[in-house]
Amino acid sequence: MPLMPWRDIDTVLLDMDGTLLDLYYDEHFWLQHLPQRYAELHGVSLAMALLEMKPLFEKNAGTLNWYCLDYWSAELKLSVRDLKVETADLIALRPDAETFLAAIKQAGKRVIMITNAHRDSLSLKMERIELAPYFERLISSHDYGFPKESPHFWDALQADIAFDPARSLFIDDTLPILRSARDFGIGHLLAVSEPNSQKGPKDTEEFAAVKDYRELIEGL
Ligand SMILES: [Mg+2]
Repeated sequence: MPLMPWRDIDTVLLDMDGTLLDLYYDEHFWLQHLPQRYAELHGVSLAMALLEMKPLFEKNAGTLNWYCLDYWSAELKLSVRDLKVETADLIALRPDAETFLAAIKQAGKRVIMITNAHRDSLSLKMERIELAPYFERLISSHDYGFPKESPHFWDALQADIAFDPARSLFIDDTLPILRSARDFGIGHLLAVSEPNSQKGPKDTEEFAAVKDYRELIEGL
């Protein structure tokens, strides 16, 4: 991982799930807990539940619906909110994420969370992990009506917070989102090498990736 040119950066934009928080909670919820509880609540086998859910997952990947608890609650005829609480003990910070947040705030950087998570997911997580005080704003892309994958998201963000893209660092574990940020002109981009603690490192393709948040604050 290269040393960050911190003198050229005054705004830090941060994703939540997989970047600051362990993606294990979300992946476990969507791939295991939700199909299991869907099967129980609708009286079908787990195999049938997965079969029924698969086309919905495929149809909505990368769209705002994908992240929308209301959408999934209506489609699956259950309360996704309530089910999310059932596994909330798995919500956890990634290693040294809080050290990193404290350091960039201390250094006077403008720190803003931008997440595709629905407001309900965001509040559930912020109730468990007290990160809100580190941020000037917690922005959910649902507020703008476009996911981070869309160029419209970045225009809306610019109109909302007035920042200099060239002097901004953005960290996100989703590669199509980093590409969308790059197209908008964000000057400094980092992926996350191990967003899910149970899965090992992932290929971050053309992007440099954060391996260790303590290393990243060197030279700050
Ligand atoms: Mg993420």
